[in-house]
Amino acid sequence: MTDQPSTQPRKVALVTGSSRGLGRAMALQLAAAGFDVAIHYGRNAAEAEKVAETARAHGVTAQVFGADLTTPAHAGALVEQVIATFGRLDVLVNNAGITRDTLAIRMKDEDWNAVLDTNLTSAFTASRAALKHMMRARSGRIINIASVVGLMGNPGQANYVASKAGLIGLTKALAKEYGGRGITVNAVAPGFIESDMTAALPEDTRKAYLGGIPLARFGQPEEVAAVVGFLASDAAAYITAQVIGVDGGLYPH
Ligand code: NAP
Repeated sequence: MTDQPSTQPRKVALVTGSSRGLGRAMALQLAAAGFDVAIHYGRNAAEAEKVAETARAHGVTAQVFGADLTTPAHAGALVEQVIATFGRLDVLVNNAGITRDTLAIRMKDEDWNAVLDTNLTSAFTASRAALKHMMRARSGRIINIASVVGLMGNPGQANYVASKAGLIGLTKALAKEYGGRGITVNAVAPGFIESDMTAALPEDTRKAYLGGIPLARFGQPEEVAAVVGFLASDAAAYITAQVIGVDGGLYPH
């Protein structure tokens, strides 16, 4: 299914952290919608290549790019590399993210910095590079993958929560700054979604979270990807500066 007429050049989407988990599902959703896709990985090049192969089955171009986003300058360089390769960038999904959980009093500066640099500062440097290009094109979509905990807080995750709350602020600021250029900026705030990240949680923590979810289950990566696909589509042209929860009702806005 594509919302792009076949005579038009295909639009290009970059999803950071698309070698696994939610990012993988987002890249495949966008490929299925007819976007050429830039698949990005940090460490898992082979997995990223598999995602690209699956994306190509939709008849689109998919290329793999590696960049370690603990160094934020790499995120801007990644965007520039994608634009140089494809000649355009229509959709940037800032999805790559990490956790380094511990109580605030035990949190080392390096744990704080690694999470803020990867989750927030890299999203900023990637967005800055993308916006320069999107402004010239007078169109573009930036979609930041935040988290329900960026809205509600969570013990043991001061660094992660701050990074996700920061992403929500960044989303709103950029939406106001670039709306006049035809660029939309939105955040998606997933709740607890089955992935390597949540598989690492202790069983009693998983049970406690489950008790607070009205839909009484964790979500699937495809359920987050569907919202990203919608925000990237022509149908979402009048939606900007929003935070869209995909959390089974955990945190009513
Ligand atoms: P995941 O399974 O752990 O995958 C993380 C992705 O980010 C991988 O593709 C990984 O690439 C990439 N990545 C991590 N550190 C990187 C670095 N330093 N440089 C470059 N790439 C890096 O995580 P996920 O569960 O899919 O989460 C994806 C996003 O959704 C994150 O921003 C997360 O905070 C957010 N989120 C997830 C949940 C959830 O329940 N899962 C809930 C709310 C929000 P490599 O494997 O190639 O290194």
